[in-house]
Amino acid sequence: MNQLSVRNLRKSFGDELVLRDISFELQPHQVTVVIGASGSGKSTLMRCINLLEEIDDGQIILANEDITAPDINPDVVRAKIGSVFQSFNLFSHLTVLQNITLASRKVHGVKREIAEDQAMELLSRFGLEAKARSYPDLLSGGQQQRVAILRALITKPQLLLLDEVTSALDPILIAEVLTLIAELKAEGHTMLISTHEMGFALKVADELIFLQHGEIAERGNPHELLADPQSEGLRAFLAAMREAGRL
Ligand code: ADP
Ligand code: MG
Repeated sequence: MNQLSVRNLRKSFGDELVLRDISFELQPHQVTVVIGASGSGKSTLMRCINLLEEIDDGQIILANEDITAPDINPDVVRAKIGSVFQSFNLFSHLTVLQNITLASRKVHGVKREIAEDQAMELLSRFGLEAKARSYPDLLSGGQQQRVAILRALITKPQLLLLDEVTSALDPILIAEVLTLIAELKAEGHTMLISTHEMGFALKVADELIFLQHGEIAERGNPHELLADPQSEGLRAFLAAMREAGRL
């Protein structure tokens, strides 16, 4: 059984077709990294999977359930998916511990003490226990983004969506976030990740998908894809990444 199947997904905004006939699968524990120029549709794809955008056509199946069926409750689906986006979306008036436990308490009805124990366990595992009572402002960007990822994890999601989670960070802070994601891969989390960090993509991706103008232009083993791009689009993209020092 696939953990996620996206079938013939189409999405437009007004006249602009942003995703055209996107199909791919994620097996349990698989990590797929989506690369592509800005505007190629990476975020829209993530937002469609998280039901933040209504799709025009196609199907999205999460662990055997068609989450694009008309009778689906989007809140129930979203509770099964952990999402982290580029901007830090922690609540500034809540401590780290409160931020992490909020969803499990409010959405999943977990008791405060249990949620806090789980949160402390996660924070300790990833070296952030000293920050539990701090407010997000007092954390570095890298720490905030790691907390945002832990917050997405605490409810044991079936799928993690990480959309350019390091692109707002200073280079020096990027590494600590990427290290955390690599640890999550080692723990067996199923993840769909978009990033411009090609070295990281090579390290964690089981499959690489190159999106261009809303289409999957190339996909496959990351090492093979980067060593021997077949399309002009991917060659140009990789050249730009090299220029930017990301490859
Ligand atoms: P990426 O994440 O790869 O940079 P996006 O998914 O953000 O790409 O954007 C893909 C295309 O969809 C872009 O042309 C963008 O302008 C357009 N787009 C994204 N969101 C919206 C929206 N809410 N309304 C209109 N156009 C949008
Ligand atoms: Mg984006």
